[in-house]
Amino acid sequence: MAVTRRTFVLGLAGTALVPRSPAYPFRLGVASGDPAPDSVVLWTRLAPSPLDADGQGGMPHADVPVDWQIATSPTFGKVVTSGTVQARYADAHTVHVVANGLRPDAEYYYRFRARGHVSATGRTLTTPAFDARGRDLTMLFACCSNLESGYFTAYRRMAEEHADLILHLGDYIYEGAAKPNVVRPHLGREILTLPDYRRRYGQYKMDPDLQAAHAVAPWVVVPDDHDVEDDYSGVFRFDDLPPLTPAQWVTRRTAAYRAYYEHLPLRPASAPVGNSIQLYRRLYWGRLATFHMLDTRQFRSRLACAGGWKVCREADQPRRSITGAAQEAWLLDGFAEHHGTWDILGQQVFFAGRLDPTGVGNMDAWDGYRASRARIQRGWQDRRVRNPVVLTGDIHTAWANDLKADYTDERSPTVGTELICTSLTSRGDGTPDTAVPGQATNPHLRFYSDRRGYCRARITPAQLTADFRTLDFVKLPGAPVTTLKSFAIPDGRPGLHPL
Ligand code: FE
Ligand code: CA
Repeated sequence: MAVTRRTFVLGLAGTALVPRSPAYPFRLGVASGDPAPDSVVLWTRLAPSPLDADGQGGMPHADVPVDWQIATSPTFGKVVTSGTVQARYADAHTVHVVANGLRPDAEYYYRFRARGHVSATGRTLTTPAFDARGRDLTMLFACCSNLESGYFTAYRRMAEEHADLILHLGDYIYEGAAKPNVVRPHLGREILTLPDYRRRYGQYKMDPDLQAAHAVAPWVVVPDDHDVEDDYSGVFRFDDLPPLTPAQWVTRRTAAYRAYYEHLPLRPASAPVGNSIQLYRRLYWGRLATFHMLDTRQFRSRLACAGGWKVCREADQPRRSITGAAQEAWLLDGFAEHHGTWDILGQQVFFAGRLDPTGVGNMDAWDGYRASRARIQRGWQDRRVRNPVVLTGDIHTAWANDLKADYTDERSPTVGTELICTSLTSRGDGTPDTAVPGQATNPHLRFYSDRRGYCRARITPAQLTADFRTLDFVKLPGAPVTTLKSFAIPDGRPGLHPL
């Protein structure tokens, strides 16, 4: 169904009119992200045939104009701002519109039009004014959405929460070739080239549950390893599988970062330059919360003792870093701002100390970068950060941890709190287990679950309430979500307080 400029501008083509002709270009949905008090990023990609092997989504070799609109209601009765951008063939017809001139702390609706078709409508929000107290915030965070491991029901349940903000902490896609006996096999070989990565994003983003979660709230995203390659660290690979020359590895990283930027609602400041991408950044929810979004992959030192789980003295070397020196200095500067009541670190890998009685630890997590962790914890203590809260993905199970000044002395003070959001699908259905592995020697590890789902944080000036939202199954569609466990973190009292 064709939509004229006149009907689009007049707002007569609402969400009900989503044509499904073979030429329909909005099969990958819409998204918004990185909100500010006066602006937000709007995203879409034109791809009538998202699974085409050339990664170009069935689009012609030409740039294509895309109209966009923002309104205060989903009927688009009053369009606040609008414009036209070019979806470039060179960008696989992805667009990142920075919609400016918006009011702070406001709800908006947006949509796109191209080639006579109108997209679905998305809802988004701006943040409160920089110095405003602002409303309370409901924020969801999640990670590890392996298409092969299950249905994206948890994304659907996230959409149903109508939250103000959604964080995705990495492993948005997985890079592997199709595996046998999985719920929904990947298309094609292990992804290596830019067309491979673009097609993989196309396959993931065709999922209606994923699209619903994007369309309901602004997202703030950071990648982890599988968005590039399993357990890589900076310029180093974990293993040589598949074998790649150094030049091929650079090409792969470059392709992965480029496709990540192309397919997520990031600001143009995060557009990759060559084989690097600027992803660590801060977002201010007025004076309530500051989000320090970290990149613990791109700048980290090589895995200690070749990675894996082991006893490893090298992990204690003071020069080792999981952030790199520049990001560490930037984070410490951020701690000194004291802008919000809550300082929230959105990052990828297990932060709390978790060595077993023989000293075995996960070299891919902060236990492999102990001096780096100590500098950051010391950094927030020295700067008297009132409420440091670390949000974590990666591990495919849910955890809640008290962060200790000294992990070898359980009587040392609790100096922060860590919430680990399990996975959206990775690991499959899981089990009802809630016995905390290793708790006997690490009593600061307070909660564990092997179910899939996400975390919900309700943040007020007085308290952060964390709800572990879990599903009993993902290998079949339709699981309901329940709150398995809740904790409170009262203002000024780091650590977990059971509800
Ligand atoms: Fe993962
Ligand atoms: Ca990971």
